[in-house]
Amino acid sequence: MDFTAIDQQINALEQCVDKTVPVDRDEPLLVGVDLGTAYIVVVVLNSSSEPVACAMEFAQVIKDGLVVDYIGATRIVRRLVSQLEERLGRTLERAAIAVPPGTGEKDCKTHGYVVEGAGLEVVTILDEPTAANAVLGISSGVIVDIGGGTTGLSVIEEGKVVYVADEATGGTHLSLVLAGNYRVSFEEAEELKKDRSRQNEILSVVRPVIQKMASIVNTHIQGRDVKAIYLVGGTCCLKDMEKVMEKETGKPVYKPANPFLVTPLGIAMNC
Ligand code: ATP
Repeated sequence: MDFTAIDQQINALEQCVDKTVPVDRDEPLLVGVDLGTAYIVVVVLNSSSEPVACAMEFAQVIKDGLVVDYIGATRIVRRLVSQLEERLGRTLERAAIAVPPGTGEKDCKTHGYVVEGAGLEVVTILDEPTAANAVLGISSGVIVDIGGGTTGLSVIEEGKVVYVADEATGGTHLSLVLAGNYRVSFEEAEELKKDRSRQNEILSVVRPVIQKMASIVNTHIQGRDVKAIYLVGGTCCLKDMEKVMEKETGKPVYKPANPFLVTPLGIAMNC
C-alpha cells in the first residue's frame, strides 16, 4: 500500500502541533477530540480536511476506554480547546469524538459529556477503528491500534468493521519494562521510549512485550483470511516494531509515518 498521501497529511498535522495555519473568519472548521488512556488530542481541520492546528496533553483520566476522572478530563479538554481558540483566533463550536468499539451507550454519553463540559457540541460519536480507517481507507485487512493501555484490533471487510477485540497490553507496559530494566521512574521511561537515538536498544529490551501484542493479534485473526495488518496508535511509533509484528504474524505489516496521529485525524475528518 502506498502511504505517501496519508503520510503527507499526517506530517502536516504533526507540524500543526507547534504551528498554526491561518484560517478565514467564516471557514468551517472540523474538530476531533481523542480521549485516550495516555493522551488527549484535539485536532482542527479546515473544510478541505487539511490540518490547521493540533494540541495534546499527557493525561491519565481514561482507563480501558472509560472516563475515570470526569472533572480532570473536562479540564484538560477545555484547556486544549482554549489554547487552540487563541491560536486560531476563532471559537470552536462542534466536535466529533470516538470511543473504543463495543463501548456501552452510558459510557459513550460520558465521553460526550466530557467534551460538552469543555464547551463543544458533540455532533458525531464514532468508533476508533472507523475513525482510523477514514484516514487509511482500506477495504480489507486488520487495523491494529496499540495505544497506552491496550492492543485493539479491528477486522475490516468491504470497508466495514466486522470484528473487534481489545486486550490489555499497550505502551504503558513497555514503559514499565523499561523502567525496571534501566531502574528509572515510569515518567523517565516514557521519555526514554521516544528517544530516537536509542530505538534499537529499546526494541531489544521490549521485544517480548511486542511479541505478546503480536500473539494477541494472532489469537484473534486465527481462521480468518487476513491479507495485511495496518498499525496505528502511539506505541507503533517505536522504530521497527512492525518488523517484529511481521515476523510473529507472518503477514505483511504496514505502518504510516506517524501512527500516533491517525485516529485523531480520522475523528476530526468525521466532524
Ligand atoms: P488507548 O488507545 O489505549 O486508549 P491512547 O489513545 O492514549 O490510549 P495513543 O495516544 O495512541 O493511545 O498512544 C499512547 C501511547 O503511545 C503511550 O504509551 C505513549 O508512551 C506511546 N508513544 C507515543 N509516542 C511514542 C513514540 N514516539 N515511541 C514510542 N511510544 C510512543
